[in-house]
Amino acid sequence: MQEIDLRSDTVTRPTKEMLQAIMTAQVGDDVYKEDPTVNALEEKLARMFGMDEALFFPTGSMANQAAIKLHTQPGEQLICDKWAHVYNYEGGGVSFNSGVSCKLVDGDRGMITASQVEESINPPDFYHSPLTSLVCLENTTNKGGGACYDLEEIKRVRKVCNEHGLGLHLDGARLFNAIVKKGEEPKDFGKLFDTISVCLSKGLGTPMGSVLIGKKELMKNAIRVRKVLGGGMRQVGFMAAAGIYALDNHLEQLAKDNTRAAEIAQILSSLNYIGNVEPVETNIVIFYLKNVEVETKFMKQLAENNIRISNMGQGKLRIVTHLDYSEEMHNRFLETLRKVDLS
Ligand SMILES: *Cc1c(COP(=O)(O)O)cnc(C)c1O
Repeated sequence: MQEIDLRSDTVTRPTKEMLQAIMTAQVGDDVYKEDPTVNALEEKLARMFGMDEALFFPTGSMANQAAIKLHTQPGEQLICDKWAHVYNYEGGGVSFNSGVSCKLVDGDRGMITASQVEESINPPDFYHSPLTSLVCLENTTNKGGGACYDLEEIKRVRKVCNEHGLGLHLDGARLFNAIVKKGEEPKDFGKLFDTISVCLSKGLGTPMGSVLIGKKELMKNAIRVRKVLGGGMRQVGFMAAAGIYALDNHLEQLAKDNTRAAEIAQILSSLNYIGNVEPVETNIVIFYLKNVEVETKFMKQLAENNIRISNMGQGKLRIVTHLDYSEEMHNRFLETLRKVDLS
């Protein structure tokens, strides 16, 4: 019985066609900026977002951390949601790498509003508190269950940032899931943010890689910061080739991931042993069992059917759909959910 791994959209393996693109890539030493495939990927994304420049990073965390460093000075403060990846899941890098603190906002499913941002800004002439210099948004939100921002709210956040001289960074690890869901364009985001990070290794299904895209005046130091963080790579065009292949071939299938997640949520809601199922917008489903005590039993029955999902603690369970989750697996998973017996 084939394993169904729904812990994350990072578990995908490259397809045969993607491997072919990797194997035939032209490469060079990217530390000398001589890797034609990396350069092509960076140009492709900069153009896609209508922004000046882009830089390839090994991970999304490093791309976000570099962005934060580009926007801030030690002692300053950034504003983000209390569930933000940059605050919760990047190893404390905000303080380690940039000497910056986070003002946490109590948002809705990981999303914050323009008025919450405005309320969180420290008065710049009040020298007792850290100087606010950056706002970080996340779209889609990870811990918030794949929720997507309303573009109009982001426009209002941009306005607040302009009025107060703040930078605006987007952690867009799963931005393409939002774009596909809402029929938006990458350029809609390129117009509003100073820097944007996107992951190639989540929904797009490459083995590694993220790209930081941004305005020239900020990006001119990005390569130095990446070097400091240890992210200068050599013949990494093999991985950039996977990224180019994914952008050309895997964007549209994200709609399928989003639909399947919605179908899973619908079935979950109809089952008597399931408690709350959080609203699903993209490819992440967060749900709770009615009775937390049977959690081990539930996970065990899934495991017996060779199905893996994430346990996020405090009764929170997570499913993420992805490229390697086929229609056949989908049907088997839904069937298994219906057959679970926790009595
Ligand atoms: C996955 C993810 C990242 C980057 O994670 P890496 O594992 O470092 O590539 C950043 N932000 C969000 C919201 C994510 O989901």
